[in-house]
Amino acid sequence: MKVDEAKCVGCGNCVPVCTMGAIYIEDSHSNVNEDECVECGSCIRFLEVEGRNPTLVRGLRKVLNKVSLQHDAPVGVCVAGALYEPTLEWPREIRRNFSNPAAVHSATGIPGRGTDEIKTNDVNEWLKENEALLLVEVGRPGLGAHMRDIEKITTVLATLGVDFKPENPITLLMTDTKTGKLNPDTLNEKVLSAIIEIKIDLDKVPVYLKKIKETVKDLPTVCSLVVAGRCGEQGDIPYLDAVKEAGLTPSPGGKTNLGLGRRGGSE
Ligand code: SF4
Ligand code: SF4
Repeated sequence: MKVDEAKCVGCGNCVPVCTMGAIYIEDSHSNVNEDECVECGSCIRFLEVEGRNPTLVRGLRKVLNKVSLQHDAPVGVCVAGALYEPTLEWPREIRRNFSNPAAVHSATGIPGRGTDEIKTNDVNEWLKENEALLLVEVGRPGLGAHMRDIEKITTVLATLGVDFKPENPITLLMTDTKTGKLNPDTLNEKVLSAIIEIKIDLDKVPVYLKKIKETVKDLPTVCSLVVAGRCGEQGDIPYLDAVKEAGLTPSPGGKTNLGLGRRGGSE
């Protein structure tokens, strides 16, 4: 994200709306810490452009300041639309691809960081009985995640031998799915969050969960783990004991999809 200094009046309305705390006021205008900005576009989406003349507003603010009064733009407004999204080149463009929910990911052709949700499994049958999907979500607003930290997880998983979901955006950044190494150009890029998806045998769930737990504990970000599998005929969840065996507490917020999709495309 960039700031057009000629349009900015330094009101500071954009500072609290930044999901990464990357905007600050200096020299009477806003500035963006480019290392921390993940190109999520939230600042532009949340602020309405008031369309006022920035020179007049700046002048008014100066005059009022002299007599200990002040003029503040209404909250939720950027007076003259000073924030703008520059054209992003490779590799910085991946920040937007992973972080801006309105952006279509150039590698997958769909908006967002992931792939088809597991709830489509009744149609695509990617996950078979006795298999489990492990999903590691790395990063959150306020913290984000560097690709170099995400690579630490993918390389450890690769040593255990996994099927990375082929069309997943992180898998598509790998130079080799056997090693889990990501394209070295991308390692210093930061994103709001990213999702690693792997398929493993159901009986291996505790081993993988323990390994992931051990790997992520020193990373400078947060991770959420999701396990998904096919319910048994009686609605039983086949991996609950495996999650407990790994020393984790299953969240009661889990969801069950009923399998009402239709096979054969959109019909
Ligand atoms: S909201 Fe707009 S005018 Fe106010 S500080 Fe931010 S960029 Fe500048
Ligand atoms: S694009 Fe996102 S991270 Fe960057 S300045 Fe705007 S809100 Fe902050």
